[in-house]
Amino acid sequence: MSEQNPNAATALIVADPCIVSELLKQTLLKHGYRISWLDDPALISNTLDEKSLQLVFVDLDFLNGKAIELCEIFRRHPVADHTSLIAINKDIDESFLASLYKAGIYDYVDCSVSATEFVKRIENNILSQKNKMHVKQLVYHDALTGLPNRLLLIDRIEHAVARAERNNKVVGLLLLDLDDFKLINNTLGHEVGDDLLAEVAMRLTGQVSGLDTVARLGGDEFIILLESIESPAVAAITAQGINEILSVPFTIGDQKLRITGSIGIALSPGDGRSIGRLMRHADTAMYKAKEAGRNQFRFYQGDMEDKVSERLRLSNDLHRALDEDEFVVHYQPQVEAATGLIVGMEALVRWQHNGRLIPPGGFLAVAEENGLIVPISERVLEKSCEQISIWRSRGLRVPHVAVNLSTKNFKGHGLLEKVKSLLEKYELNGSDITLEITETTAMDSPEDIILMLNEFKALGVGIAVDDFGTGYSSLSYLKRFPVDTLKIDRAFIKDLAADTDDERLVMAILSLGKVFSMKVVAEGVETIEQASLLLRHQCDIIQGYLFSKPVSADVMAQLLESTRLIPEQATEQLPTLKFGLME
Ligand code: C2E
Ligand code: MG
Ligand code: MG
Repeated sequence: MSEQNPNAATALIVADPCIVSELLKQTLLKHGYRISWLDDPALISNTLDEKSLQLVFVDLDFLNGKAIELCEIFRRHPVADHTSLIAINKDIDESFLASLYKAGIYDYVDCSVSATEFVKRIENNILSQKNKMHVKQLVYHDALTGLPNRLLLIDRIEHAVARAERNNKVVGLLLLDLDDFKLINNTLGHEVGDDLLAEVAMRLTGQVSGLDTVARLGGDEFIILLESIESPAVAAITAQGINEILSVPFTIGDQKLRITGSIGIALSPGDGRSIGRLMRHADTAMYKAKEAGRNQFRFYQGDMEDKVSERLRLSNDLHRALDEDEFVVHYQPQVEAATGLIVGMEALVRWQHNGRLIPPGGFLAVAEENGLIVPISERVLEKSCEQISIWRSRGLRVPHVAVNLSTKNFKGHGLLEKVKSLLEKYELNGSDITLEITETTAMDSPEDIILMLNEFKALGVGIAVDDFGTGYSSLSYLKRFPVDTLKIDRAFIKDLAADTDDERLVMAILSLGKVFSMKVVAEGVETIEQASLLLRHQCDIIQGYLFSKPVSADVMAQLLESTRLIPEQATEQLPTLKFGLME
């Protein structure tokens, strides 16, 4: 029988109805407990399974000499972890009391005292239990979201795995990592980030059954523990559901935010029984989901680990490649659309390995992971500076060379000093080089980046924002960044002639460039149609296969010798285009 609020903490009374137990019940009700009665002590195990159970009162007389046995059952039950067992009786002898404490009771309340005294003793126990629960809440829960934290999760996984094994069921461990959450924190502030995390926590909790656990591991990582599921399909459906609930925009304050998540799934017992293994495998699968483009889920697969060791090998090879100077730089011209003049070029790294020339797509992700991106980009920077001075010594007119940098290059590696000493060593002006940073780098810690970029600016070094349009640039920051050039990402140029949305976006970026007095470079221009459309919208500079693929330093020297570049495929259509190439 139960009474009162179904969500309240439960107290179990194992006793005959009598004056004492009635007084006990009234006291507990007054303090907001839901009451369960047990009139058959043999059924104690089943009753203990109740999740909200916090207090158990047993009348020793009622137990008929089975008190110690019941205490033992209680002590071995998982519920003992958060529930206090309190014995009630009168005049029991010292040695029996000692064995009761040993068997697991938390307290003994003598009921031969006055009613006032009895109620006071019960209330002390209630208070002590509430304090215990409060401390547990602090220790085992995440303060921001109120969700179980890593400590409690570990405990739950342990129990879930053991239970599933007994019942021939499966446990699903879903690791959710929010995509690009850091950008939200950095651009909109930590308070907005915190509110968003709390909202995500609420949505996740609403998505799983009462038996399952949603925990926060810290940062933007959540775990969803699915207990005793029938098949992996349930985990897949849950993961799909999570992606769907996240896709509904969040309203934080007066702004609408969109966020996606990548989910990795490990199943027990198939993918392991230990917490360490399960978490590691869910993590590997989550990274696969990120690599596959984010906003999706992946089950862990045995060969994922092989791929990890493949990455490890690649990582070692990259170390050697630096030592043995296997990186070469190719250059791609940036052409002024109206005149065909080469007004700049971009330095792009390639890896000369086992007789092949590997493009950056084949190794930069690993270099980002292991930090080698820093020395690799610096090497490209040095080679580019050296190359400018070689070209100049041959009498060539060389425009500025743009070098790509990773976010990591800006973090305590003395980039500014290196740039200064390279300019000095190769007798270059600051304006001979441009640094390309991505939107993500710019927004990583905008205030620090602004300070650093201003110092480069003081040297005359150009700054370009690469892949513009793909990130979260906030206009208020953009205004403060000392940026001279925006590079429209190839993704928007690709379908330019066919897709009017892309055209509108390109137009928006172009007018942004005008407002902030920045040059705009369109990347990945392959066709005359794209070029003429860009020209119509007064896009100044074009970089793409239409004019030239990235080429070796020697071929670039030949391009620099020609007065202007004429796109090969343009010869017939040229008169109809206003490339300005016709005299
Ligand atoms: P990015 O900086 O956006 O460079 C432009 C990429 O687009 C280059 O790819 C270039 O070859 C390619 N591209 C240019 N025009 C066209 C076109 O018309 N059609 C097509 N399909 N592609 C075109 P690449 O050389 O493979 O470089 C890829 C990315 O690797 C670069 O993207 C840049 O983010 C990164 N990267 C290259 N070199 C370095 C480096 O030295 N340091 C760092 N940190 N990153 C680098
Ligand atoms: Mg670039
Ligand atoms: Mg780019």
